[in-house]
Amino acid sequence: MAYFMGLDVGGTSVKGLIIDETGKIICEDSTPTLIGEELADCIISLADTLVRASGKVYSQIAGAGVCCPGVINPDDGSVVFAGNLELRDYPLRDILVKKLKIPVKVCNDANGAALGEAKFGAGKGYNDSVLVTLGTGVGGGIILGGKIFEGNKGAGAEVGHMVIEQGGAKCSCGRRGCFEAYCSARALTNRTKWAMEEDTGSDMWKTYTNDTADGRTPFEYMDSDRTARQVVDWYLKYLACGLTNLANIFRPEIIMIGGGVAAQGTRLTAPLQKLFDKELFGGSGYAPVKIECATLGNRAGAYGGAALLME
Ligand SMILES: [Zn+2]
Repeated sequence: MAYFMGLDVGGTSVKGLIIDETGKIICEDSTPTLIGEELADCIISLADTLVRASGKVYSQIAGAGVCCPGVINPDDGSVVFAGNLELRDYPLRDILVKKLKIPVKVCNDANGAALGEAKFGAGKGYNDSVLVTLGTGVGGGIILGGKIFEGNKGAGAEVGHMVIEQGGAKCSCGRRGCFEAYCSARALTNRTKWAMEEDTGSDMWKTYTNDTADGRTPFEYMDSDRTARQVVDWYLKYLACGLTNLANIFRPEIIMIGGGVAAQGTRLTAPLQKLFDKELFGGSGYAPVKIECATLGNRAGAYGGAALLME
């Protein structure tokens, strides 16, 4: 049996696990993220902890894969730029190989999560998949033929920043009308609050105020309140548009939805699939595209790191 280590660097903690080749978790742990040049130190200390907890030695671990925010050079595993980690041209893979003395691969965190879901989560068994994460922003990754689509020099695909409404709402990236400006959890929350202010008779006011309402609120009231239903329909319309664009370009077998909004489960995916199937190029008869929620939650990146070594 071969064993693989996966490490996922987040803004506040690094999560790590060791799995066997079937994806079974042998052990997992986490440690606070150290930013700047000390990043490798916290990864190495977590790796040591994991190897000890697994009851193995390093020579029994086939390799370690690290998912890291920012632009990662796919050739040498260096961090080209990661603003939140205060890193630029940081040779992360070289430092880790020297200390851990096992093969190491490094990839962008969104791509890593997509690979994790593709190999061990909702995308298991499919060659071509897309992960779209609906959180504070809209991110994701594209897996083609079981491999991460890296783009030129690892600059990657920014699925959240394709325009779905020309001249539309302002986006964090500077453009207008991006997928992210309409389909992030933040955009959904803003639309909910706007709709509540427009309709002071809405049932949503029974439980929530303008301070406490969020993206879950319209889903909670969609069956009984017309304004809540309109917010959900508005959101689904833009989400279906963005997902159809992605499907028309990459024609994956499955699009997986991750992030906070995915907690709505089939309340989100069932109506979305219907809208999407109507818009999908050529229809959904010949090469259908499933829309399902991601299943690995915040372990997706660590699984993806481990999966990097299985490619
Ligand atoms: Zn944008």
